[in-house]
Formats: sequence, C-alpha cells, structure tokens
Amino acid sequence: MKVLKFGGTSVGNPRRIKHVAGLITKPGRKVVVLSAMAGTTNALVEISEYLYKGNVPGAQETLNGLVSKYSKVVEELLTEELWREEAMQAIDHSFSVVRSYFEEPFSEASEKEILAQGELMSTALMQAYLGEQGIKSVVLPSLDYMRTLENSEPDMAHISKRLRRMIDKEHDIQLFITQGYICRNYTGGIDNLKRGGSDYTASIIGAVLNAEEIQIWTDIDGMHNNDPRFVEGTRPVHRLHFEEAAELAYFGAKILHPACVLPAKLHNIPVRLLNTLEPEAPGTLICNSESDGKIKAVAAKDNITAIKIKSGRMLLAYGFLHKVFETFENHRTSIDMIATSEVGVTVTIDDDSRLAAIVDDLKHFGTVTVDRDMVILCVVGDLEWHNCGFEAKAISALKDIPVRMISYGGSNYNISMLVSSADKVRALEALSAHLFNE
Ligand code: ADP
Ligand code: ASP
Ligand code: MG
Repeated sequence: MKVLKFGGTSVGNPRRIKHVAGLITKPGRKVVVLSAMAGTTNALVEISEYLYKGNVPGAQETLNGLVSKYSKVVEELLTEELWREEAMQAIDHSFSVVRSYFEEPFSEASEKEILAQGELMSTALMQAYLGEQGIKSVVLPSLDYMRTLENSEPDMAHISKRLRRMIDKEHDIQLFITQGYICRNYTGGIDNLKRGGSDYTASIIGAVLNAEEIQIWTDIDGMHNNDPRFVEGTRPVHRLHFEEAAELAYFGAKILHPACVLPAKLHNIPVRLLNTLEPEAPGTLICNSESDGKIKAVAAKDNITAIKIKSGRMLLAYGFLHKVFETFENHRTSIDMIATSEVGVTVTIDDDSRLAAIVDDLKHFGTVTVDRDMVILCVVGDLEWHNCGFEAKAISALKDIPVRMISYGGSNYNISMLVSSADKVRALEALSAHLFNE
C-alpha cells in the first residue's frame, strides 16, 4: 500500500483534478489524501473571521464567491447529469453547513466545522469524476477514523483500528480517497491538524498502515536548497535524512508540515516529495540515508522574538536556567534557540502571545531585554562536529549581516542563526551564493 497526498494547487481547478485522477489510477493499491482546492481554506477562514465579528454580509459575500467558483468547477469537471447532480448535492450540503452559522452565535467549534468543508468538497469532486470515468474507488471519511487526543496528538491506536477495519472490508478496492487536514478531537467535535495539515494526515495514515511509501505531491519538484519564494536559482535536493527534513520543515520550508516527518520516521517509511505538474522529475526522497558530509539546504522561520535574561553570576548560580525554563513552561511557550554565557542567556520564541507575562516573571531573575521581528536562518545537512569547516562556511556567508545569535551542536543536522527580519532575504541569498553556488 502507498499513500499519496495531493495539495491544494494539485487539485486547484478541473484540469488539475483530471490530471491527478490520471496519476492515481496507475496500478497499485493506494490511499489518496486530498487537500481542499487552492484558496478554499483561506476563503473559509475569511468567512469565519467575518462571523466572529458578526459581519454576516461580509461572510455572505465571500461565500457567494465560493458558490459560483464551485458551480463552474462542477460544470467543467463533469459531463453527465447524474454525476453533476451527485457532486452538486455534496457541495450544496457543505455550503448549507457554512450558511447555518450565519444566524447563530459563532464559536471555535463552528469555525472548525466550516474549515472542514474544503476537504469534504474536494474529495466529493474527485469521487464524482472517478465515478463518471467508471473507475472504482471508495471514500474513507476522515471524520470516521482520524482522531486526536486531549494533548492534540493523533490517537494512533484508534486511527489504526478504525482505518484498518474500513480498508479490510473492501478486498477488491485498489483506490481509496480520503480528506487531509480534518479530524475529530477527544470530545468527538470536528477539528483539524492545523494549516497545511494534509501532509500530516498522509504521514499518520502511512504510519498506521505501515505503507511502503508516503508521497507528497505538490507544485514544485521536491525540497529545494533554499526558499524559492525569496531566492532565485534554488535547486531540488534529491535525498534528505528524516532529521534533516524535520529541521527544514520546522524552520520554515513550507513544502512540508512540521509534524509530518515524525510518524514516517518512527515507522521508517520513506517519504517522497513529487511535482504533480512534472510527475517524472525525481523529487526528494526522505529516508534514513547514510551520512554524506554535505550541507543540503537553508530555511527561514519568521516572527521570532529573542529574550535576553542577564543575571549577575549565571554559571555559579546553579538553578538559574531551571528557573528561566520553568517560566516558559508555566506560560506553555516553547523555546526554539538558546545561547548562554557566564552572565546571561538568550532564548527565542515564535509564539509571543504570552510575552508580557513571561517578561514580567523573568524580571525576578535578572535584567530582561527583548528583540522582536527576528528570523531564524537554519542551515541543514550532515553537520556532525567532526566534519570540519561547515560552521565557518555558514557564518562567513553572513559576514556583512548583523547576526544576533548562533546555535550549533544541538543536533548533528543544523546550525541556526538569528538575524533581523529586515535582513532575511539578503541573508538567504548570501547563504545560497556561499553554500551552493560557488
Ligand atoms: P501544497 O498546497 O501542495 O501543500 P504548499 O504551498 O504547502 O503546497 O508547499 C509548496 C510550496 O512550498 C512551494 O510552492 C514553495 O513555494 C514553498 N517552499 C518553501 N520552501 C521550500 C523549499 N525549501 N523547497 C520547496 N518548496 C518550498
Ligand atoms: N486545506 C488545508 C490548508 O489550506 C490543509 C492543507 O492544504 O494541507 O491549510
Ligand atoms: Mg502544504
């Protein structure tokens, strides 16, 4: 069994949906995970934002845009009246769910149900198209098996039991279709795996089914060596270790949801990143590859805040770091980077919602300074410390850019440097020029 996930742009219009149908009907048993059509989740988020503010006409206007878009999609995708009606019924149901919240007090649970409609509609469209083509497939409704625990982690035992049971019933079926992103939480309410979470759905399914491979099909030919949205001339990396991919995903490479690597890594299931528009391109293979002593790629994580706590005598005052970390734990805020010296410590966070309270508490232990609008640049590769010269190379690439903080040695796979967000693009370009294009 293979698991194939297609992102929003891969199913972004009727032509693309037909193209994906061609890719998934190649021989072999598979579970296909679909995202919402590109732009849909954003529109549903917008509708929810209007409804939180009580602006029903605003929500109505955005919904009208979606309604006319989907009517056109159905018309262009399907030719037979029977299948058009089948698809329209599902789409109408989704839109009536959205509309049902126009008259009610709006809550987080209402928002979650609205956000779930994008993936429900894209799978309904694919199911109708495959039906019209006479291709046998079965839809596995995510809301019937994908569940998270109270701590928001996937409930792997439940997912495995339910999903296996659903698949085992269908001996003669080769092609299963399911919704990415959406799930139920521990209370049974509709929920989701956070934006970009369809990758995570694919990886969870791959893990519980012990799949042969997880394929993430998107709009680019694999993980590039730098962020193609900001740097020109980036190139695909053909092979990455699970740990390298996890670092890149966590530190801003949007092609992968940050949580998606772990389930695949734990079950040692290779993950392949492939381009829907260029299916023959080799893409990127993520697996437990051998060490190869190379720097592979660079990524950047935005909206970082650095907090410096200066104490009179940090190292001699044992217990100081414990108190600092405990403060962040008390405010349920995780730390990304750390740098220490005899007189102080600087840490970075990306969630600054509790910043004022954290700073207030830290003032008990020392003098506190905050730098906002920072970016973590993450250089990733086989950077085991005996491999000489990599850190020197990464740092010298930034010789003309002020660097606030450096972290190396936390793992064998990463060097992180903190710069001001105003210098982000310049720094990414300098890293590409120095590390990959010389
Ligand atoms: P999908 O909708 O298929 O999930 P995403 O938009 O989430 O696709 O991810 C693909 C996008 O990730 C690419 O179009 C690209 O702009 C962006 N991206 C950011 N960093 C990288 C990188 N290092 N390599 C490849 N793509 C990247
Ligand atoms: N549709 C969801 C989003 O846009 C999930 C995904 O595409 O992975 O975030
Ligand atoms: Mg994505």
